[in-house]
Amino acid sequence: MLRVAVVGSGPSGIYTAQALVQQSLVPDVRVHVLDRLPAPYGLVRYGVAPDHEKIKSLQSSLRAVLEDERITFVGHVEVGGERGPSPDRLKELYHAVVYCVGASADRPLGVPGESLPGSLSATDFVSWYSAHPDAAVDAFTLRARAAVVLGVGNVAVDVARILARGAAELRSTDVPRAVLDALGASLVRDVHIVGRRGPSQARFTTKELRELGALPGARTFVDGAELALDPAWAAPAGGAGAPPLPAVVRRNLEVLRGWAASPPGVPDRERSVRLRFFLRPVELLERAGRVAGVRFARTAPDGTGGVRDTGVYEDIEAGLVLRAVGYRGTPLPGLPFDAVRGTVPHLGGRVLRNGVSSPGEYVAGWIKRGPTGVIGSNRSCAKETVASLVEDAPLLTARDVSADPLGALRAAGLRPVEWDGWLSIERAEAALGHSLGRGRVKIADWSGLLDAAGGGSR
Ligand code: NAP
Repeated sequence: MLRVAVVGSGPSGIYTAQALVQQSLVPDVRVHVLDRLPAPYGLVRYGVAPDHEKIKSLQSSLRAVLEDERITFVGHVEVGGERGPSPDRLKELYHAVVYCVGASADRPLGVPGESLPGSLSATDFVSWYSAHPDAAVDAFTLRARAAVVLGVGNVAVDVARILARGAAELRSTDVPRAVLDALGASLVRDVHIVGRRGPSQARFTTKELRELGALPGARTFVDGAELALDPAWAAPAGGAGAPPLPAVVRRNLEVLRGWAASPPGVPDRERSVRLRFFLRPVELLERAGRVAGVRFARTAPDGTGGVRDTGVYEDIEAGLVLRAVGYRGTPLPGLPFDAVRGTVPHLGGRVLRNGVSSPGEYVAGWIKRGPTGVIGSNRSCAKETVASLVEDAPLLTARDVSADPLGALRAAGLRPVEWDGWLSIERAEAALGHSLGRGRVKIADWSGLLDAAGGGSR
């Protein structure tokens, strides 16, 4: 029997477990899917915006994988953490370990004023509204009238959309009561989403962009003059002899052009969302010890897809600044790490230690390829890793490992939350929602989750 630990129960971890039990070269496989949190699904539970019900519903297919009798969910075990097993210990307990730990940190901007109160990462905001137990329930009070969101990727669009939605629009979702209360009392009226390059380099996808134009309580504006700066705007087909624009860029430009001509929504909406381009953040401005706005350098295309500064500056006033400039992987003690790329070095998913592949250790997902792609991208990524693992199986299974790795983890003082514990959390969240006259509502703190799971402690 091949015994495998998958570390991380987000989409990449679950697709890895699925690929392991679906392959036919090694028929007898048992997989333990470990997670630091007592709840599975990673960014699907703690990253996908609450109003994206369709993407959230992916949980039911991920759930079906975790219910396979050859797969066991083992929550509340932090690999490489203070008390959890080290990578070396996991190698003693399992034939193979696949790290699917994602990219949980935010990227810094590296400009003055970035750490002022009121300047936060979009990751913090997402964790807060997603009820991540590491986020304080009162982390955001939303007392600012204007907010600037830096970056033009899908995370920027998510956080801007949540800021622009009223609490009533999110009441039917699973956001915690404290988040709903804070959104209900929010003073934010103007949300600026700002990109340092042009619309044809924006990273958001068209479906997500279009949603900004369909917010019931907000009107969305685009400055046609900023679109005009973009060479792709002037020559939408890429110009004579030039390669055609990628479909997503063409569709995004069509949407933005339409909005520049006629902002979607009716004029008297309570909130505004403004998409801005060619503005590079150079400094966060301060007033009375808090962030008061952002100073931008006006940029212009440099002809190679990049931008150059023009020497002109523009300030946008804002009491809340969220940087949505990408996620970053963090090192896991005991595993090699490429600090420049923020990933674990690998070859076809096999972890490389000092440039040499380390049998029995693998990676998949964002920690393998960096924080890009949609949830489905993790399927092929996991399959590649599992193909390498299965190829190594004869070598791996020649080594004796523990017959009861869970028993060994418990003997080391850990209190894993298994599938029954997770089902108890689900029931407790349904009961909480019921008591509030809503559908299921997430439990947002460690003790609440562990109590619901059956009385564990941290
Ligand atoms: P992203 O797509 O990489 O976008 C990051 C944005 O930050 C880019 O616009 C980038 O501009 C900008 N940026 C980076 N450094 C900057 C700096 N120093 N100053 C100003 N701007 C800077 O990252 P993301 O939005 O975090 O998304 C991560 C992944 O998750 C993506 O694959 C995304 O599609 C996915 N995701 C999907 C959904 C969804 O499907 N609904 C939702 C959320 C996330 P440059 O291009 O100029 O570098």
